[in-house]
Amino acid sequence: MIETLTIKKTLVSNSKLSELNLDDIQFGSSYSDHMFVADYRDGEWIDCRIVPFDNFSMSPAMAVLHYSQSIFEGLKAYSGPNGEILVFRPVDNFLRMNESAVRMCMPALPEEVFMGGLLELLKTDKQWVPNDEGTSLYIRPFMIATDEFIGVRPSKTYRFMIFTSPAGVYYSEPVRVKVEKYYSRAFPGGTGAAKAGGNYAASLYPAKLAQEAGYHQLIWTDGLTHKFIEEAGTMNIMFVIGDRILTSKVGETVLDGITKRSVLQLATEWGYRVEERDISVKEIIEAIENGTLKEAFGTGTAATIAHIAVINNDGTDYELPSVEDRKFSNRVLKELNDIKTGQIEDRYQWNLVVQ
Ligand SMILES: *Cc1c(COP(=O)(O)O)cnc(C)c1O
Repeated sequence: MIETLTIKKTLVSNSKLSELNLDDIQFGSSYSDHMFVADYRDGEWIDCRIVPFDNFSMSPAMAVLHYSQSIFEGLKAYSGPNGEILVFRPVDNFLRMNESAVRMCMPALPEEVFMGGLLELLKTDKQWVPNDEGTSLYIRPFMIATDEFIGVRPSKTYRFMIFTSPAGVYYSEPVRVKVEKYYSRAFPGGTGAAKAGGNYAASLYPAKLAQEAGYHQLIWTDGLTHKFIEEAGTMNIMFVIGDRILTSKVGETVLDGITKRSVLQLATEWGYRVEERDISVKEIIEAIENGTLKEAFGTGTAATIAHIAVINNDGTDYELPSVEDRKFSNRVLKELNDIKTGQIEDRYQWNLVVQ
């Protein structure tokens, strides 16, 4: 199927690669030479193309600018030991994007458009996949509503694009997080399960308040009672209590993270007891107080693991055990990096190899 897709290519005359200094870029602020674009008209994805990364013009009345009918994905590619490109679980991102599309009344992407476009883009810009330790190529697929119409209804036309952004060594400082008891990221019947742009816009204000109070991020709790923990910022959240791994169940209000799934698979392999269920704030605070809570961390594509150093609940700061002593999350971080970069066997066939 993928081979049947026709992609028209317009290449840059001068690559910007020589201007790239990976030691000196902020995550998400520099872009490879090309991007993939496809348009949706009359029920069909058409005009698949690879073109130079550049601005494009749009009408001020373009639907997405007003009502945020937009979805995105985020994934990474790495340099393998023999010069091949390794893409981490891209089909999972493809499937999740189509689930987001259903919730936002957007058309499904055929696999040959998402995967075919991604592969061709990576082959075109393969020089942009960095190979120093700890570096990666961040990949951003997204879809926007493009009707020139400001009535509120699902757009009839859409654009799907993929661009990539080389990322230097991404180290997440251990974070201070505050348990949020008023604002919500998601609620039953809402859009929390979708990677929809509007969700992130809505989270900025509560996150800003937390930052003004001296925290990096929030721990989101359920929108109905604020008693149960859902996510940490834009990451899934996990706790290690004794030899158990606790994490909130994915569903309507907890995004189904691919990093989280990968971490849980390794945890199971290593003999930890995984409990995916409702987790109350109360049981976490009790576990901190009685010394059984060993680790708390967020999981997501950007950082893989973000250790949590401090949890604030109802005005009290709780210090967690030091990061050096965290056996599980440090081990899982190393194992995942080794798999993603092809240094150890990819025993779950997570990597897509692009030659
Ligand atoms: C993207 C995202 C995650 C993490 O998903 P990964 O597939 O692991 O990157 C978790 N929570 C939210 C709200 C997200 O948007």
